[in-house]
Amino acid sequence: MIKCPLCQQTKLKTLYPLNDKTSSQKKKIFQCQNDNLVFAKTLTSKEKKEGKEKVKGNEINKEAEKEQEKVKDLYPYHPLLIKTYFNNKLTTINTHLIQTNITKDCQNKKGNQKKNKSKNKDNSKQTLKVLDIGSGWGDFLKVLEAAKTPYLGLENDRQKLKKLQQQGLNCQDKTLTQLIKEKQTFAAITCFQVVEHIKNPVSFLKEVKQLLKEKGILILTTPNHNSPLRKLKKAKWSVYNYPDHHLFFSKETLKQTLIKAGFKEKNIIVKLDQPRFFSLNYILKRLGKLERKKVINLTIPTDPFGDLSAMITNS
Ligand SMILES: [Zn+2]
Repeated sequence: MIKCPLCQQTKLKTLYPLNDKTSSQKKKIFQCQNDNLVFAKTLTSKEKKEGKEKVKGNEINKEAEKEQEKVKDLYPYHPLLIKTYFNNKLTTINTHLIQTNITKDCQNKKGNQKKNKSKNKDNSKQTLKVLDIGSGWGDFLKVLEAAKTPYLGLENDRQKLKKLQQQGLNCQDKTLTQLIKEKQTFAAITCFQVVEHIKNPVSFLKEVKQLLKEKGILILTTPNHNSPLRKLKKAKWSVYNYPDHHLFFSKETLKQTLIKAGFKEKNIIVKLDQPRFFSLNYILKRLGKLERKKVINLTIPTDPFGDLSAMITNS
C-alpha cells in the first residue's frame, strides 16, 4: 500500500503515470488527498503487475536514462550569475545573524571554550558557522570560502566530494545523525535543492532542526510544483524525470512539512526563489543530445518560477 510521506494516509490521486514512451522513469506521481503533497513512487515489478501497468517503449526509456546519467555530470550554471545568486544567500544569512546577535553569542562561547579547552578538545567545532547540506558543485562553499565564513559542507556523491576536496573546500561525507552525535550545532544551515531527494522529509528536517542553534537560520530551496511551466509541461516536466526526485513541493506543502518537523509557522517564510541561470554551453549540450538521440523528455529547466525558497528561524 502506497502512503503519503507526510501524513501516512493512503487516499491518493494519481497525477501522472509517467509510463509512456516519453518518460525515462517507470514511476507514478501521486498527490495526497489529505494534505496535497505531491510525491513520486517508482513502481516495483510486483506493483506494476498488480496494477496491470503497461510499460511501453522500454528501449527508449533505457536510452533516456543513459542520457540523463551523462548530463548529470555536466556543470549546469553560468559561473558569474551563480556566484551572485549564492552571494545573495550569504547576505541573507549574515543579515539575520547580525540582527539576532548570534555571532556575538558564538564569540562569547568561544571565549569560554578557551578556558575549558583542556576539558574538551572538541570545542573548536563550535566555531563552525554554516552547514551546507548537499554541496553538489560547491558553488556556495566557494562563496563561503571567499568570504572567510567558517563552514562545513556535506556531500555524499563520491565523485563530487572528491572534486570539492581537491579544490580545498571543507566538505565531508557525513550524515546528519553523525553530526548530532558529535554535538555539533550551526548558526545557519543551507539546503539547496536537496529536500526533493529525501524520502522521509519530516525526520530529515527534524535532524536539521536539532543541528540548528537557537535563533539560527535555515535556508532551503526546492523545485516549485506550482510553477506555470510544470502546469504547461504536465508529465513532461523535467523535474519529474530525475530518478532520485521523490517530492514536489508547493509553498503550502513545504510549509506544512516544516511545521510537522517542529518549526513554528510564524518563523517560516516561503517565497519564489531568485532564478538561477544555466550556461549556454550546458543548454546546447543538452539540446545536442536531445536532437541526436531523439529523446524528447529532457526539457531544459530555465523556469524563472521554477524554485521555492524558504527562510526559517529556529526559536
Ligand atoms: Zn498526506
